[in-house]
Amino acid sequence: MPACDNNLYELMGAKNHPSCRDNLNSTLKDFDVDVDGNPDPVNLFQNTPIVDLDGRWEVRESVAKPGDYVQFKALEELLVVVAACSMDLSDLNGGTPTDLMLEVFE
Ligand SMILES: [Zn+2]
Repeated sequence: MPACDNNLYELMGAKNHPSCRDNLNSTLKDFDVDVDGNPDPVNLFQNTPIVDLDGRWEVRESVAKPGDYVQFKALEELLVVVAACSMDLSDLNGGTPTDLMLEVFE
């Protein structure tokens, strides 16, 4: 699923709304990364299931609960950029985006 961006929010009638695309890109610029070529994100707690064989999907409230987590093991040095989606205009975040906690272990 692509990151939310200004176009999506403008279609929903919300100009200048914070977006994952802007948040990710602004951070990537700090690391001298070409933001035009950055891939779409991996959505860990998003609930947008495919609901039909024609590829139709729906936006649903996340089924993640406070304290749920995902753990990754980096096998080489890498740059990870994370955004807690600010979508508050659909069911995506239950209408209320929440904070995201990260822990990095060495
Ligand atoms: Zn987002």
